[in-house]
Order: sequence, then C-alpha cells, then structure tokens
Amino acid sequence: MPSERLVLRPPKRGHKILIAADGLRIPDDPIVPLIEGDGIGPEVVQVALQAIDAAVETAFHGRRTIAWYPVPAGEKAMFQYGELLPEATLAAIREYVVALKGPMTTPVGGGFRSLNVALRKALDLYANVRPVYWIPGMPSPVTHPERVDVVIFREGTEDVYAGIEWEKGSAEAMRMIEILEKEFQTRVRADSGIGVKPISETGSKRLVRKAIRYAIENRRKSVTLVHKGNIMKYTEGAFRAWGYEVAQQEFGDRTISWDDALRKYDGKPPADRVVIKDVIADNMFQQLLLRPEEYEVLATTNLNGDYLSDAAAAQIGGLGVAAGGNIGDAHAVFEPVHGSAPKYAGLNKVNPAAEMLAGVMMLEYLGWKEAATRLRDAVRKVVAAKIVTYDLARQMPGAKEVGTSAFAEAVVDAIHGAGA
Ligand code: NAD
Repeated sequence: MPSERLVLRPPKRGHKILIAADGLRIPDDPIVPLIEGDGIGPEVVQVALQAIDAAVETAFHGRRTIAWYPVPAGEKAMFQYGELLPEATLAAIREYVVALKGPMTTPVGGGFRSLNVALRKALDLYANVRPVYWIPGMPSPVTHPERVDVVIFREGTEDVYAGIEWEKGSAEAMRMIEILEKEFQTRVRADSGIGVKPISETGSKRLVRKAIRYAIENRRKSVTLVHKGNIMKYTEGAFRAWGYEVAQQEFGDRTISWDDALRKYDGKPPADRVVIKDVIADNMFQQLLLRPEEYEVLATTNLNGDYLSDAAAAQIGGLGVAAGGNIGDAHAVFEPVHGSAPKYAGLNKVNPAAEMLAGVMMLEYLGWKEAATRLRDAVRKVVAAKIVTYDLARQMPGAKEVGTSAFAEAVVDAIHGAGA
C-alpha cells in the first residue's frame, strides 16, 4: 500500500498536547504516539507501558492517564506498508508532539543509514539528551559509580553526521581536492575520501540554550561545554565561543563563567548561578573517570557526544539501563539507547529497564514528576533487591535471574508498594 494512502487512526479517548508560545500545554490524558520497534522492541515496550501506566495511576489516582497511539515504523512497517518510516507516522508525531519508541532494526540496504538519524532529521530533534546516573547495585567497572550523575546534551543534526562525504576516487572527491588545491592552496592526498564538518552558530546556540535551561530548571550547578577547539578552531572552537555567548546574552543573570567565578568570587560562585565552563574533549574522558562529581550537565558537538555518552553509560552499568531523548524545540521522542537485539527477540530474556527509564524521561518531559519518580524508584528498588535479567545477573554475585516479564512484574509490584 503506498504510504500516502496509509491512514492512521488515533485513539478515541485522549487529547492533543498543544504547543504554546511559553511551552507545552499538557492535557490530563495526552495522546502519545508509540513505536513498538523491532526485535526485542515489542516485548520491552509492552512491559514498559505496564510500568509507566502503573506509575501514572498510583501517582495521580486516575486523574491522569496516557492514551497510547501505536504508529508503524521499522521492519514491520516495511513489511506492511512498504516503507520503513511512513510519512503518516512522522505526521502523527508532529501532531501529537511527544512520543515513545522501542529500538528499530535498520535493514542493511533499506535506503537509510540509520532510521533514528532519519527520524531526528525529519522532526528536527536537535538535542540528543542522555542522563547518566548510577542505580545502586548495578555492576560497574569503576570504584565509585555513585559519583556519576550527568546529563549529556549532544547536538544531533550537524558535525560529521551531516552526511556530507565522498568516496575516494569519486568525481566529487576529486573535484573537492582540486578546489582545495587551486582555490585555497591546500594540498590533500589524491587518494583521500572527503568529509565535511559543518557546525553552525544557530545549531550550537540552540543546543547550549536547551542545556542551560535544563540546568536552571533542575537546579544543576554547572554546564560544561565540551569541544576540540584547540585543533578545530572554526567548528569546535566556535561551538565553545557561541556557548559562552548564549549564556551571557540570554541567561546573564542566571549563569556565571568559571573565569568570573574565580575572579569575582574566589571560585565560590553564588548558589543561584549555573557555572558555565569548558573542557577539551579528550580531557573530558579523563575527567568523567577521575572527577565525575564536578560535572552535572555537558553540552557537546555531535561526534564528541556520541563517544562520551557511551563511555559514560559504561561506567554506570551499560546498555541495559541507558535511555535517551531526542528533543527539538517542542517535539520529543524517548527511547532506550540499545538496539533491537534480534537474536533475543521473543525469548522473554532481555532487560526492559532502559525502555522503562526512557518512560521516566518522557514523564519528566510531560512535567509528571511524581509518576517519573515512582517509576525510577521502583526500578532502583528491584535492581537493589538483585532481581535482574541475564545481562546484569551474570555480573552480580547472588542475583536472582528473571525474564523480561518477571522483572516488569517486580517493578509494577514495587510501584504499588508491594514486592521487591
Ligand atoms: P543491539 O543493542 O541491538 O544489541 C547488541 C547486544 O547488546 C545484544 O546482542 C545483547 O547482547 C545486548 N543488549 C541489547 N539490548 C539489551 C537489553 N535490553 N537487555 C539485555 N541485553 C541487551 O545492537 P546491534 O546488534 O548493533 O544492533 C541490532 C539492530 O538494532 C540493528 O539493526 C541496528 O541498526 C539497530 N539499532 C537500533 C537502535 C535504536 O533504534 N535506537 C540503536 C542501536 C542499534
């Protein structure tokens, strides 16, 4: 069936989230598009919904509910509708603003490098946000994982991910090499592939703006601009400069640069100011290992953020519990960081915690903090009781290994105040 004719029907109950000039208007029964994904997606999504619904129910006693709106994407959409990412699905997320998704398989040769990158581009979800904090009991390769509590804001539309590159020997690469030589007197080896790294003032500022707003709203003490500006001055270096500029020009009374904090306040800035500092990317990897407690919010360019967020996630327990949000000016899609792990599909084996924690982020975005806290606390409680899936059990001495659904049941029981 051609995608133009694919008509999706929203649920009969529920209301739209509205975008107003000063923020989102969240009804008590928002309609939330749901992509269940491929591979292990459906099973982790299904149990995550049970946990999210239970958290909302116990937090608001029926006054609030989510009207889930399943929309197709990924392998199943390809099979049913001949398209991996149907326009009707994108239109639904555009219309209903906030969505939750499971992991999707990107078939090799399906016309997309990555479905997620395509989704981010189509909806201009420019900030990839990943909170990284430790849940007591989680296996960790570092001595003090409890010191890690950072939120990474990674720019998601620019940098070497813009997809502007040409293969060695292609007409385009040869032409670029020629232009560089003839017009810019720059020599590049003839057998080079060529990539372009665009970093704009607009793209950098809107990302840093979002990170600073988050820090102010969540009483975080600092925002660190991560860059490689010592080498790439007009891209990475400019990101740093634009970051400081946005802080000073738009949040001048709520932020203070670390230099000013040292000069004017002897390194002890007023408590109501968010400190803006910067760290060179390679040093940031060391810092996160050695002094993680000095970092609360990181604002990064695309590639640096990709590396950093995986390295940071490894410190607190890895893929099974890492969640993220792709967030634009209003629209947001929340998801686990892991993929669709096809070899485990249908086995009731994998860890649904990351999908649940994506739900926590979504609830926070809706401003439903009570429900978010209930769900996060319940996951903590179950992990602390050492009731875990295989991926964690094999690293936790004395753990009780359970399947996906039993882990979820334990979480739902914990939400209701029983069990675990
Ligand atoms: P993957 O994350 O799917 O799986 C790698 C390994 O991690 C698995 O074999 C498994 O051992 C472990 N794992 C992943 N999720 C787990 C969970 N919830 N519980 C326990 N263990 C878990 O990565 P991959 O194999 O490289 O990718 C498979 C497919 O997923 C590819 O098609 C890829 O494009 C896609 N992918 C999608 C997303 C997304 O939708 N956000 C992200 C990454 C990869």
